[in-house]
Formats: sequence, structure tokens, C-alpha cells
Amino acid sequence: MVGLHSAFVKPFLIASLAMATLLVVIVGGFFYTDFQSELQIITERERSQTLLGAKLIERRLDNVARDVLLLANSVSLRRYGEGSEQEALDDLGDEFLNTSCLKGIYDQVRFIDGSGRERVRANYRDGRCNLVAEKGLQNKKTRYYFSDTYKLSQGEIFISPLDLNIERGVIERPLKPMIRIGTPVFNGEGEKLGIVLVNYFGKELINDLSSAMSGSDGIPMLLNRDGYWLLGAHSEDEWGFMFKQNDKRIENRYPQSWRTMSDTDDGQITTSTGVFTWKTVYPLSVNSISSTGSTDASGQSTAYIDRDDYFWKVVTQIPQEQITKLQNKRVRMALVLLSLLMLLAFFAAYFIGRSRKRELVSMNALKESERRQRAITAKLAEGLMVLDKEGKLITMNPEAERLLGWSYAMLSGQRIHDLIHLNASGTSEHECPILNVLQEERVNHIEEDLFCRSDGSILPVAYTASPYIVDDEISGVIVAFEDISERKKLKEELIHQATHDALTGLLNRREIENLLGHTFSQAKRYKRDLSVCIMDIDHFKQINDAFGHRAGDEVLKEIGRALYQKTRSADMAGRYGGEEFVIALTETSLAGALQWAEQLRSTIEAMSIAISESMTPIEVTVSIGVASISDQIENSDQLVDSADRALYLAKGAGRNRVVGDSQQLAAEIQQ
Ligand code: GH3
Ligand code: MG
Ligand code: MG
Repeated sequence: MVGLHSAFVKPFLIASLAMATLLVVIVGGFFYTDFQSELQIITERERSQTLLGAKLIERRLDNVARDVLLLANSVSLRRYGEGSEQEALDDLGDEFLNTSCLKGIYDQVRFIDGSGRERVRANYRDGRCNLVAEKGLQNKKTRYYFSDTYKLSQGEIFISPLDLNIERGVIERPLKPMIRIGTPVFNGEGEKLGIVLVNYFGKELINDLSSAMSGSDGIPMLLNRDGYWLLGAHSEDEWGFMFKQNDKRIENRYPQSWRTMSDTDDGQITTSTGVFTWKTVYPLSVNSISSTGSTDASGQSTAYIDRDDYFWKVVTQIPQEQITKLQNKRVRMALVLLSLLMLLAFFAAYFIGRSRKRELVSMNALKESERRQRAITAKLAEGLMVLDKEGKLITMNPEAERLLGWSYAMLSGQRIHDLIHLNASGTSEHECPILNVLQEERVNHIEEDLFCRSDGSILPVAYTASPYIVDDEISGVIVAFEDISERKKLKEELIHQATHDALTGLLNRREIENLLGHTFSQAKRYKRDLSVCIMDIDHFKQINDAFGHRAGDEVLKEIGRALYQKTRSADMAGRYGGEEFVIALTETSLAGALQWAEQLRSTIEAMSIAISESMTPIEVTVSIGVASISDQIENSDQLVDSADRALYLAKGAGRNRVVGDSQQLAAEIQQ
């Protein structure tokens, strides 16, 4: 029997564990999926943000390039090339000033002639635009941007690297990021006159980039081709190349990420330091060119750079801490939810455990009562079977198993009537006293019936079939049965003894008179033949006297045996008394009976009865009187009397013969 303590603890633990595992999987799975989808949204947003930033830069530079081309093709400049120099410069000054004031994005707008001299220059400082007087104009022949632009052909654009403005040999403070964009100027004959050059405020570009990417969850960055920050997380990291600080490059901080970034135009990489998303910008559109530039005031650029080599990278970095923060937020939420659900699960498990315990308690009680019931029924000397409403076996006791030779396991759930009753008794289902209990709701006592054993042998039984009542409702039949084969044998023996002669085994006088009475009235009613023979051993007294009483008995037995052998099953042979026998032959006329009796007489006459080896065999004869049923004979006694009279005649005629009732014989002959 299961311990009641573990009856609670085990299901409680199993239910708790199962529910806890399920909850962890569900809640964990939910928050993990949620985290992943948010991460995906974020990373997608980063892609679109870097794309937005790159587009902004391209558009801005394109606009500046268009401004420069427009200025280089201005009417005033064309006039400058055609001789009216001062007038043209004045108009150009107005035009440049106009552009400078209206646009507000150019630190300087200049025309530099072929000798490198600034001829017109409009400055824009602190929100104010002004034209620089002649004496303020400088010679820029030595600056790389002049020579690099001047060398170009018509319509070609020079775009300098984005770097910091240098004033009088030193980097201007506050830092002034600058990008110089210029184009050579030609007169009508195609002669090169100089260059138009604008200093575009890099700060404006960078600020706009920053605000355009404000939708990013990460830190927006702008890197030049060497991986120096033009815009970074910290201002002190920026413009490293201008200050000859080679370590202030992304490569030094995130080598792996930078390697991937520099290899591909756009992409995303997740490393232990966070997520980098980038898009490469190629500021040089068609017809643009750049050079290496120089960070020295009068340094020349070492080479031109073509489109594919002049690029910036618009980058966002989502630091790992930010991702961890998102993760932690979900972990916290998951933990809170889990704790609540676990608490609920715990209660549920508690109730499951408790109900399981109750179930077990009642199951144990049921088992105990079943055990007790079995123990009681096992002691019963009677076989006991309980059937359900359909007559199927629910239970049986060991005695029933023993008597029927069927085990409970074999019979359980089987229809009992079909298996053990029908074949043995031939009783149909609706006549079955056991099954009828279900309809009639009463107790049936059956004194004698037959059941069938498992080996096919027949078991005589007496039984009581009673309704099996559960909760005031009939739910089956209880059959208590006993084996009556011994009792039946005893009864049959008693009946045999009462009706048979002990010496010869033939019917005794009383029984033969009974049967003869019954047979006579049947024959009389249905007008059938019936004959009676009375046989008496001749001089039996002498046999007794000569051989002894015991030898006499042996002779009686032998005669009885011969008689038994000669009679048919429908006939009756009995010992009428002493050495007298009565034989009733059914369906036999007087002539038939006489013939039969004659055969019997001669058989006995031929017999030689050996009593013992020392004694000579005994030979006997018999006299037989025969009479048959007739209209004059009214009962069996008269018939016997008639046969007796014939016997008397046989004796008188010398014995060892058969004599029929003379009146009847005469009547038969007449017929
Ligand atoms: P009969 O030819 O005239 O019939 O002569 P019987 O001697 O047979 O006639 P009786 O009736 O005078 O004698 C019958 C004898 O049968 C008398 C009796 O001792 C003997 N007897 C009757 N019953 C038994 C028996 O059960 N066993 C033996 N051994 N003898 C018996
Ligand atoms: Mg006699
Ligand atoms: Mg006799």
C-alpha cells in the first residue's frame, strides 16, 4: 500500500516540476522571442538610419557641387575672361556675397586666378556675410586645393578631404571642419582662368547627419576611409588624423568590427562589444575628383584619389551594455511573471497532490475492503460469482475457480451463461434462472442444475441467484453455488436400492408392480400390446438342498443375468419374490411373448452354472407363464394373475415349459 505521506508528496512534486518546467519554457520562450524581435526591429532601424545618413551626405555634397558649377559658369566670370576685369570682379563679388549670405553654409566662396591669387572672396562668419577687401586677399598658390583643382578639366569638380580648417599654419579653434569644393574656370576660348572654390562647413554637414540619425538607438558615427572619427561618441576621439594621433582610430578600439566594415560597403556585425551597422558614402559623383590633401598649411597632396578610394562610413554603434539592458529588462519581467505563475502553479500542484492523496486514500480503502471480501469469500465452501447487468463476470472466489476449473483471469468480463451454463443445461438465455434475477429482482433457489467445467465435463450444482444491489439499484447477480455430484450419487444409490433387488440387480417387486401399473394404463389408453411373463425355477428347493443356499443364490444371479441380457431397453425385468421373476414386454403380443419366453427357457436349459471348481456345474430349468393385455383384463394385477395361472398350468404340465393364458390363446387363434 502506498504511504499516505508520499501519496501527497510525489504527485505534488511531479506536478510542481512539470508545471515549473512548462512555465520556464513558455515564459522564457516568450521573452526570448520578444527580445529577438525587438533586436531585429532595432537592427533594421539601424540599417535604415545609416542609409538615411549616407543619402543626406550625398545629397548635400551634390548640392554644393552644383553651386560651384553654377558660380564657375556665371556671366560675371565669363566677362572677366573677356577683358573687362575689374567690372567683372565687382559683379562677381556681388554674386559671391549673395550666394554666401543666402546659403549660409560656406565659410568662404572664392575665385582664385591662375597665379593662385584670391581675386574675390566672400566670408561667412557668425551668421554674417562680407566681401573681403582687396588687401585682405591672399595668395593660395602653395595650397594643395588650389593646384589640385587648377589641374582639372572643364566641368570637373575637386572635393577635398573633410578636415579641419588651418589658419596661419595652425588648426583653427574652435575646430572648424571644412571641405573644399572647387572647379576650374575657363574663358570662351577654353583658356583656364583660375578656380572657383567654396569652403563648405563640415560642421553643418556633421550636425545635420547627427540630427538625421536621431532615430537611431545607437551612437551615430562618421568615419573617414582610414577609420578616423569625423563624428564619434566622444569629441576627443574626433579628427585624430589632423592631430597626428594615429591611435584615435576605430581600428585600435574595435579591430574585428573595423576589418569587416572596411571590407564591405554596408552591413551589420554583432560582436561582444555591441552591434555595428554601416553604410559607405562615396562623395565623389561623376566628374568629381579628390586628392590626399595635406594637413600642412603649404603641403601638397601626394596623389589624386578616385571615386572608389574616397569614401566615408556612416556608422551606428549599439553598445553591448544597451543590448544587455534590453535583455535584463526582459529577464526581470520574465522573473516577475514566472514567480507569479510559479506561485499559482504551486497552489495548483498542492491541490493536485491533495486530490491524488484523497484518491489514494479511497483507493486503499477500496482495496482493503476488496481484500477483506476476498478473504471472507475465500473461506466459503460455496462457489461465488458476481455478474454485472449484462451477465459478465465481475468477480469469483477461489472455490468457484476450483469447482469450475476456470481461473478468474480467464472468465473476468466474459458472459457466464454462454460459457458455463448454456451447453451443460441447454437452458436458453431468457429461461436462465440466473439472468432472470436481473428482470425479476428476486432470489432464485435452484436445487439442481448443470454447469460446464473448463474441460467440458459437467458439474451438477445447486445454487442461489440473488440480485446484487448497489446504492439501491440492481447492478448484477450474485450466484452462490455448490457441487451436488456426491449428494446426487447418494440419492441415486438410495433410489436404486429402493427399486432394485439386491441379489440380482433386477427391479424389485414393488418397483415392477409400480412400473407395470403405469405401463399397463398407457398401453390400455393407446391400445398397444403388452405381455407379461412369470418365470419360476423348477425344483429350486432341491438345488438349495443339494448345493447349499449360497449356490442357490449364485443360480438366481445367473438366471437374473440371462434375463437382463434377453430383455430390450423398453422391457422390464424384475425379481418377483424367491425364485420367481416377472418380465413385462411392451408392444408385444401373446404369440410374440410366447416365442420370446420359449427362447429364454431353452437358453436357461442350456446353461451350465459353475459355482466352484470342486463342485459340479448346476443345470436348471424354468417354467414360464405368459399373459397379454386384453379387453377383459382391467389392470396390471389381473394381467399378472393371468400369467401366474398359466405358470401354474406349466408346472402342472411337467415343468420346463412355456404356457400361455389359455383363454387368450384361444381368442388369438380364433382371430
Ligand atoms: P417347484 O418346481 O414346484 O417350483 O418346486 P420348488 O422347490 O422350486 O418350489 P418351492 O416353492 O417349494 O420352493 C421354493 C424354494 O426356493 C424355497 C426356498 O428355500 C427357496 N428360496 C426362496 N428364496 C430363496 C433365496 O433367496 N435363496 C435361496 N438359495 N433359496 C431360496
Ligand atoms: Mg416358486
Ligand atoms: Mg420353483
